[in-house]
Amino acid sequence: MSARDRIIVIGAGSTGSSVAYNLKRATHSEVVLIDKGGVASGMTSFSTAIVRTHYSNEVVAKMAFESRKFFEANRETLRFYKTGMVTVVPSALRKRMEDNVDMLRRLGIREEILEVKEASKMFPWLNFDADEGVSYEPDSGYADPVSTANFFARKAMDLGVKFLREEVHRIENTQGQAKIVLRNGKEISGASVILCTNIWTNKLLSQSGFAKGDLLPLKVSPHPVVIYKRPNGIAGLRPVVNDLANRDYYKPEGESLLLGGNLRSELDEADVDPDKPPPPSTVQLYRRLFTKDFEQDTSHG
Ligand SMILES: Cc1cc2nc3c(=O)[nH]c(=O)nc-3n(C[C@H](O)[C@H](O)[C@H](O)COP(=O)(O)OP(=O)(O)OC[C@H]3O[C@@H](n4cnc5c(N)ncnc54)[C@H](O)[C@@H]3O)c2cc1C
Repeated sequence: MSARDRIIVIGAGSTGSSVAYNLKRATHSEVVLIDKGGVASGMTSFSTAIVRTHYSNEVVAKMAFESRKFFEANRETLRFYKTGMVTVVPSALRKRMEDNVDMLRRLGIREEILEVKEASKMFPWLNFDADEGVSYEPDSGYADPVSTANFFARKAMDLGVKFLREEVHRIENTQGQAKIVLRNGKEISGASVILCTNIWTNKLLSQSGFAKGDLLPLKVSPHPVVIYKRPNGIAGLRPVVNDLANRDYYKPEGESLLLGGNLRSELDEADVDPDKPPPPSTVQLYRRLFTKDFEQDTSHG
């Protein structure tokens, strides 16, 4: 095949692997998928991979609803656990939550508002404040992010997608033809190049000669995931908790662990090099936030 019939996808995380597979299914082009670290070697591997439909944006909710069907249909391979998910909001957001749940139900998504009393009865190991808003979506849960990316990559390769474990050093556009230059100096041309490079996108664009003003408005902020050992009394599969009142979230991992993440805006302030460990100040901030959370948050977790 000539370069005109080739599409190059850079990045084989959950995004790039899915893009390569679906492109190959939809076109007659040769598709080349490239990743410097192998399939799912980027942020995909760190994801808590919560699969939910509780979104406030209707388009995103529709997409999540469709995606969840895919997880359900491939439950074993993607290690999808339908644990349900509890969302908690502070009292000031209760009305907004009710409207949100109405919108989701109109789309066909199963989600219900729970009175705090009812929620406490259903999930006795969680403590809710009396005035909080609580909703429950029984069909959500979590999957395995690495299995998900590998599922797509394997299916893509079965259809003939070529996978290269190489680092792309530069992308170029010469007279309407795309070209990539690998770190080892080799070049590959194609009709188009699709960047699925997530937090490394601006690095690649800078290496390719893009001016600062032409880079994407992206900021790379490290967000922690902490691993807790659960007390025996709350072992087993439990619902994911999306605690918007405390700006954090928890998901069971296997029978006895709990993974927790935090959504506080302080964590968005750092702008770091994705290839370097987070600075000590960020690590200290994680510690402070999580210690604080856990003092406060015997409430929800
Ligand atoms: C801590 C954390 C928790 C999360 N929790 C959830 C969750 O619960 N639910 C949810 O839906 N989402 C969650 N996410 C988000 C989700 O994981 C990501 O949105 C998704 O995995 C991103 O996938 P990606 O393929 O876009 O990026 P990545 O997985 O980062 O893939 C980008 C790939 O590009 C490659 N690459 C970059 N530059 C080059 C180059 N120059 N040459 C070759 N290869 C290159 C990298 O090696 C990498 O593999 C979470 C993310 C994180 C970090």
